[in-house]
Amino acid sequence: MRVGHGFDAHRLVEGRPLILGGVRIPFERGPLGHSDGDALAHAIADALLGAAALADLGARFPDSDARWKDADSMALLEDCARAVRAAGFAVGNVDATIVVERPKLAPFIPRMREEIATRLAIPAECVNVKAKTSEGMGYTGDGAGLAVHAVALITPSSP
Ligand code: MG
Repeated sequence: MRVGHGFDAHRLVEGRPLILGGVRIPFERGPLGHSDGDALAHAIADALLGAAALADLGARFPDSDARWKDADSMALLEDCARAVRAAGFAVGNVDATIVVERPKLAPFIPRMREEIATRLAIPAECVNVKAKTSEGMGYTGDGAGLAVHAVALITPSSP
């Protein structure tokens, strides 16, 4: 088996919708970004690509390319999972931690797991999402932004 790690962070600004794991969350600010700024989708995509040694999300979908402006990051995640399978691997499980002070994300986590599992074509039981605060410290603590850490396990697919 192989493991991969992903990390992403976005600044939170007014006038942008907050979307995490494909789920729109009611909040007064959202992530600044070239795509829709779904940091959870981005971190998991990087973890999957990392596990398969397929570089990273930025290499596949450069933010210098106008095609990915306001892109649906869950579609990008789906593409990355497809690339991992094409490279000869099956996705085992993913685990992610969102670090943000506000809003409280617990009510939205079951839907995030379902949305991510659907895009990765694995059972929701193989997708875990956690939310933590940083107890007021740093850019996640003062509300300037949010961060996501993710790991993914993949295995060679049976011939
Ligand atoms: Mg990102």
